[in-house]
Amino acid sequence: MFKVLLVEDNEMNRDMLSRRLQRNGYEVVIALDGEEAVRMAQSQAPDLILMDIRLPVMDGWEAMRRIKIMPETRSIPIIALTAHAMAGDMEKCMDAGCDDYDIKPIDLPRLLEKMQALLNNYDSHDKN
Ligand code: MN
Repeated sequence: MFKVLLVEDNEMNRDMLSRRLQRNGYEVVIALDGEEAVRMAQSQAPDLILMDIRLPVMDGWEAMRRIKIMPETRSIPIIALTAHAMAGDMEKCMDAGCDDYDIKPIDLPRLLEKMQALLNNYDSHDKN
């Protein structure tokens, strides 16, 4: 079973998405802010991270940058999730090291497809 780290500060979005992921066979662990996301990327060694961008304490951009420079977490694929298709967000996402990008509200079949594509590629990432 793949373990997904879901980083989302909005309770309603978080509960809904985590339930839907669990129903689709994923184990879900949750972080509520960017700092917790960085810690949990290390301690939980998830197979994939779904990262909201607008987060308290530390925003998603900074959390992604930190996860992508640490040797033990840098190979974990990250899909950035944002509520607004802001101009330049895609470039910013790639600069921060995210592997893919999706827009909220979540279209679950589309998101699952993106997740599966990354999980197939990164299947063998080093889990300590
Ligand atoms: Mn948010």
